[in-house]
Amino acid sequence: MLVAERASDFRKTYRLNYPTKNCSDCSASGKRMTRNDNDTTVVDLKNSVSKFVKDREWGRFHTPRNLAESICIESAELLEIFQWSTEEDSLSTSDQSTVRKVEDELADVLIYCVGLANVVGIDITTAILNKMERNEEKYPADRYKGTYSKPGNR
Ligand SMILES: [Mg+2]
Repeated sequence: MLVAERASDFRKTYRLNYPTKNCSDCSASGKRMTRNDNDTTVVDLKNSVSKFVKDREWGRFHTPRNLAESICIESAELLEIFQWSTEEDSLSTSDQSTVRKVEDELADVLIYCVGLANVVGIDITTAILNKMERNEEKYPADRYKGTYSKPGNR
């Protein structure tokens, strides 16, 4: 089986199950509100990270440099999950507990990314969409479909 097919298999088998509906009476019942990508904006995430930092008076530690370092450190923790595994192993040996570890470390990376955007004043949507537009120009689908090489190395 090709790695790409295994990756597709992996996504079907190990997809984490998240609730898809909001809990409308959560606040009344005291249950934790369930949020997901479908009902949460980027601003919600930015505000959540900002509140967390503000409540602890950690703003003075959250310099752009410290946050950039933290992104790299958490990225290394994400990579550590796959240390010593081949590309194929990383797909075939993964299980729900591994995916949970990936979820946890990815959250750490993303939280620091959002924190850095807050501190520097970056609009995440603008940054990503502008970069994707440049990526579309740099890697036109008709030339790069199913293959990858650095532009100019073809
Ligand atoms: Mg971590």
